[in-house]
Amino acid sequence: MNTDPNCIFCKIVAGQIPSKQVYADDYVIVFEDINPKAAVHLLVVPREHVVSLADLTPEHDVLIAHIMRLLPKLAQEQGLTTGFRTMINTGKGGGQEVFHLHVHLLGGDDLRGIGF
Ligand code: 5GP
Ligand code: ZN
Repeated sequence: MNTDPNCIFCKIVAGQIPSKQVYADDYVIVFEDINPKAAVHLLVVPREHVVSLADLTPEHDVLIAHIMRLLPKLAQEQGLTTGFRTMINTGKGGGQEVFHLHVHLLGGDDLRGIGF
């Protein structure tokens, strides 16, 4: 599996940097964002180092399907009964700051009309 020793999320996946982890399986770990933008703000992070959405290949199809189907389950576990927001920033121009693919899962506040 591809990893990058200089990547902060690879270090979190490896347990070298602490995080408030809420879920883990063979494909991903899920932890609280250090700078939450909503009452619930989780990051769904593949164990494999993939830089961004733009770097996915057909080999990642199972991983991506897994993440998409996991997101509503996590939202339900977090009690986000009225809805939730998912967000993926891609590249500098897209606001990506950590170059290890991740999906933001936000909710717990009414996000209608709120942009991030
Ligand atoms: P991006 O802008 O790349 O989509 O989002 C990166 C996110 O990672 C930001 O929301 C930021 O607060 C979060 N983040 C950055 N470094 C750390 C860290 O060391 N631990 C945790 N838990 N979150 C981090
Ligand atoms: Zn990484």
